[in-house]
Amino acid sequence: MNESAPRVIDLGNMTVTLLDGGRLRLDGGAMFGIIPRPLWERQTPADERHRIPLACNCLLVEWRGERDRRVIIETGHGEKYGAKEQAIYAIDPGRWLVSGLARAGVEPESITDVIVTHLHFDHAGGLTRLGGDRVVPTFPNATVHVQRREYDDARCGLGIMTATYRDENLRPLEEAERWNLIEGEPEIAPGIRPLLTPGHTRGHQAVLIRGRDGTVVFPGDVMPTAAHVGAPYNMAYDLFPLDNRESKNRVLRQAANEGWLIVLDHEPNTPVMRAQIEKTWYGLVPAEEPGGVSQS
Ligand SMILES: [Zn+2]
Repeated sequence: MNESAPRVIDLGNMTVTLLDGGRLRLDGGAMFGIIPRPLWERQTPADERHRIPLACNCLLVEWRGERDRRVIIETGHGEKYGAKEQAIYAIDPGRWLVSGLARAGVEPESITDVIVTHLHFDHAGGLTRLGGDRVVPTFPNATVHVQRREYDDARCGLGIMTATYRDENLRPLEEAERWNLIEGEPEIAPGIRPLLTPGHTRGHQAVLIRGRDGTVVFPGDVMPTAAHVGAPYNMAYDLFPLDNRESKNRVLRQAANEGWLIVLDHEPNTPVMRAQIEKTWYGLVPAEEPGGVSQS
């Protein structure tokens, strides 16, 4: 996403605004799992430290004629990093969800609900922020929705990445009693519900937004960038690669058949895509620019 006004997808009775939740760099080999470097590097060149650039795209959902409800989907990496971590991940702590939200003219206090796909640091880091010498909820009036299974796994540190489930991103919300632990695919807000999409983690959820004039799906880390659309393109970070492939198949099949827009969480260049059916799998094509993105 560029630095100008955020992109808005018009779904008729509601709008979906793309927010900049920050940028980071991760090891290219880890991001592409078993795919040989000569293949992934054609599309996604690595830097001198073998890292590839990634966005942390987040969404703001608002309803026409209703000012009392505002939903954020995903929160990016947040601001709580020391100099060493900033260098490792190429994170600029001044560029995170709250600065992205400010560009959309929205106050964190006005957010009523936050939905996160899972609780790894680059998705849940923006849930909390520095407040003096304490870490406090970024959205003090929001209920935070996540799958109970993901939350339980996060709280016992189930993962192959060390320290990606960070106490500082979770505990302040426990203390403020802001969690809503969900099971299955219940409606969270009008037209918004999760899709169970295990693979990256067991409790990972995608988010479906159905408006009067169209549908947007946010697959989360099922398919982090456009370069991950292929069936074997799992991340080495995925706990259950075959399950992730099945989740990706489900999302892409429905998106292609029903004309959903897809917003990719880590895609730095073309975050809004459409799926199309190809010979043995699916492909992605960039969705048209604002004005043309609302669908029939
Ligand atoms: Zn991620």
